[in-house]
Amino acid sequence: MKLCSFLGLLLCCGLLSAQTTAELKKKFDTYLSFNGSLNTLVSFNANSVAVLNAGKPEFTAYPDEFEKLALLLESKKAEDFLVIYQWKKNRHLSQKQLDSLLENQNRSSIYAYKQPALKGKKIAIDPGHFAGNMQTARIEQKFIDFRPSAANSLKDTIRFNEGTLTYQTADLLKHMLLEQGAIVMVTRPKQNYTSFQITYDEWFGKRKKTVLDSLLQHKAMDTKRHTRLMGLSKEKLFWEFFRDYELMERARLVNNFKPDATIIIHYNVDEKNTDWINPGSKNFTMAFIGGGMTADNFSKPVNKVHFLRLLLTGQLNASERLSALTVNQFSSKLGIPIAQRNDADYLRDNCMKTPSNGVFCRNLALCRTINSVLVYGECLYQDNLEECKRLNTCDYEVQGQKVPKRIYEAANCYYNAINDYFSKP
Ligand SMILES: [Zn+2]
Repeated sequence: MKLCSFLGLLLCCGLLSAQTTAELKKKFDTYLSFNGSLNTLVSFNANSVAVLNAGKPEFTAYPDEFEKLALLLESKKAEDFLVIYQWKKNRHLSQKQLDSLLENQNRSSIYAYKQPALKGKKIAIDPGHFAGNMQTARIEQKFIDFRPSAANSLKDTIRFNEGTLTYQTADLLKHMLLEQGAIVMVTRPKQNYTSFQITYDEWFGKRKKTVLDSLLQHKAMDTKRHTRLMGLSKEKLFWEFFRDYELMERARLVNNFKPDATIIIHYNVDEKNTDWINPGSKNFTMAFIGGGMTADNFSKPVNKVHFLRLLLTGQLNASERLSALTVNQFSSKLGIPIAQRNDADYLRDNCMKTPSNGVFCRNLALCRTINSVLVYGECLYQDNLEECKRLNTCDYEVQGQKVPKRIYEAANCYYNAINDYFSKP
C-alpha cells in the first residue's frame, strides 16, 4: 500500500494509535532502510509493523504494544530481547502480558530525554581507537606523519595519532561534565589502553590465547579460523579480529553503564588525500547516528532487535538532535564547513542524510549496537594544512596537562552541545 493512501485510510478511520504506524514508516524510509534495502524485510500497514522472513511475518508489533516494546528494547540487552522476539512472534500481547515482561525494568528511561540540566546525567564517552604512541598507531593506521618536502609548504615534521587526540578530548570533556555533576564513564581508562583496560601489546601477549580458545570452545569460531588467527602477527590480528572484537567491548561497557547519552569521539581525514603524505586543503565537520541498515544485516538475528529498537524508541530522533547541536558547535565555534552529501564518497554511497545539516545515518557497529542516545562526532580533518599544524603543538595548559588548544576547543563544543541537549528539551 502506498503511504499516501495508507495515510488517507488512517485519517478516515481516525485511529490515533495507528497514526504512529505511519510515523514509523516515515522514520523507516528516512533513517533506517538504506536505498530501500529493507523494504522486502519489513512491512507496514495501518494496524501493525512486521519483520518478515522469506516473505512471511516472523515478528509483529501492534500500535498498542509500541510504547511498552520500546521500553523493553531500551531496558533489555539485545540478546535478552531476542528471546522475547522468538517467543512473541506475531501474537498480539495484552497490556498485562507486556507489564509482566516489563516487571523490574527501569520504566523511566524513555522519558529521561526530557529532564533538564546535567546533574546526575549519565554520560558515556568513547574515545575512538586506542593508540597512544606512533608504534601502536601504525598498527591501527590512524596517524599523521608529514615531512617537509618540495611538494608541501611545511617547515617541520608533523606527527601525531588519532588515538591520542580522542583520548585527550575525552579526558577534558569528562572533567567539564563532572564539574556540572554528571556521572561519566570513559571506555578507555588511560592513553594507549584499549577498552579491555590494558594495552594491545599486553592483550596480544597475555590474553590472545585465552580469548581465542574460549571462542573456539563456545563454537563462536571453527578450528580453521582459530589456527589461522593464532599464527597471525600483531598487525594482521588487529585487522582480522581485534578491531571488531574490541568495538564490541566498547558497546558492552557503554550498555552496562545505561547512559542518558553517549559521545563517540573521532577526528577525520580527507579520504581522497592519497597515502596522506602531504597536507590537504579540505576540512569538513559531520556527525553520525544509527540507521542506514542494509538487508544483509538481517542475516544476524540480534540485528533485527537493534533495528526494532531504533524504529520503536525515540533514540534516533534524540541522537539526531544531539548530533545537530554538536555539528553546529563545531561549525560555528571552530569555523569548519558542514559536510554535504557530495563532500565524501562514504557520505554519498553509505549514508542516509537526515533532515539535520551535517548529521548522517551510518550503519557503524557502535551506532547500531549502543543502546542510548548518541553522537558519533567527526569534528575536523586532521590532514588539513592548518588543522595538522594546530594539532601538532601542545600549546594549551588545562587541568594540569598540556594539549593542543584545538583539542580543548573541540571538547568545549561537545560540552556545549550536551549542555544544550539536556537544558532545552
Ligand atoms: Zn577515527
